[in-house]
Amino acid sequence: MTILITGGAGYIGSHCVKALVEQGADVAVIDNLSTGFQEAVTGGRLYVGDLRDRAFVHGVFARETIGAVVHFAAFSQVGESVKDPGKYYGNNIGGAAVLLDEMAASGVKNLVFSSTAAVYGEPEKTPIVENDPTLPTNPYGETKLAIEHMAACFERAYGIRCCALRYFNVAGASPDGSIGEAHDPETHLIPLVLQAALGARDSITIFGEDYPTPDGTCIRDYVHVCDLIDGHLKALAYLEQGGKSDAFNLGIGHGFSVREIIEAVKRVTGREFPVRSGARRAGDPSILIASGEKARRVLGWKPKHTEIDGIIADAWRWHKNKGHYSA
Ligand code: UDP
Repeated sequence: MTILITGGAGYIGSHCVKALVEQGADVAVIDNLSTGFQEAVTGGRLYVGDLRDRAFVHGVFARETIGAVVHFAAFSQVGESVKDPGKYYGNNIGGAAVLLDEMAASGVKNLVFSSTAAVYGEPEKTPIVENDPTLPTNPYGETKLAIEHMAACFERAYGIRCCALRYFNVAGASPDGSIGEAHDPETHLIPLVLQAALGARDSITIFGEDYPTPDGTCIRDYVHVCDLIDGHLKALAYLEQGGKSDAFNLGIGHGFSVREIIEAVKRVTGREFPVRSGARRAGDPSILIASGEKARRVLGWKPKHTEIDGIIADAWRWHKNKGHYSA
């Protein structure tokens, strides 16, 4: 049976394709290459097309014998989602609806879904557990939560079971340096600081130093992309063994401040660069830390990279040696 990966040309999806292919799985990929890169797809059969194109998706399901789906394909920039909500509702929800319809029509029952800590909004307490209130503060988080709800409707109607994996801050790159994070434009902290270390940008700006945290800068839970993908493989196995639909946080349970990340980049790269002070970015919660206890207990997930320097070292290898794709 084939595993279908949507969004397999993106940062996280491409690491999933690589891990599954290395495990000997048969993989098919759907990606419209709007934000992903063909070169990032290192195995499997790539179908270039849009999930909202029902005939295209139907064609892929007709051609392949799909046993399970890992659904990454989505727009994922919080700021852009606030400015252009229609783009996010149309693509993220529209694509998921076609995918779920096609899964139902083809009798595919197992779905691993790429959700986000943004479903929680501004947390009331830390660390965040899965049954804390879900009150997203931006359209991106709203669309991901809506898809979790949509999947539950498809379970009632067709018996499709879904593991929603709520990612905290994903970082790092494949340790072999072959694939990594390449967003255009880049908005995430670690790649931006690494670009400053490389001299590809003249400085890094800290968005707010007056948060209620020890050094005044925001704290996030950074999980290595390879550990994150291991969570997906564990979720696929869990569903295969008959596990019930559920949501799981994927985070290491420990946070680092923006300042700590900048210091770690200086340590790992041995380079100095200017650090500027800027205004808060709208919609940024001060602290986001996961309780990863449920994923450990139910899925047997155990992240290996809990030291920030190791995560940054893998990202640095990618940025220094390659850092982008040609296509
Ligand atoms: N951040 C920053 N400067 C930047 C980019 C990000 O200070 O140039 C901060 C941002 O405000 C947040 C943290 O770094 O507190 C992580 O941001 P990122 O966009 O990487 O991930 P998010 O937490 O938004 O998912």
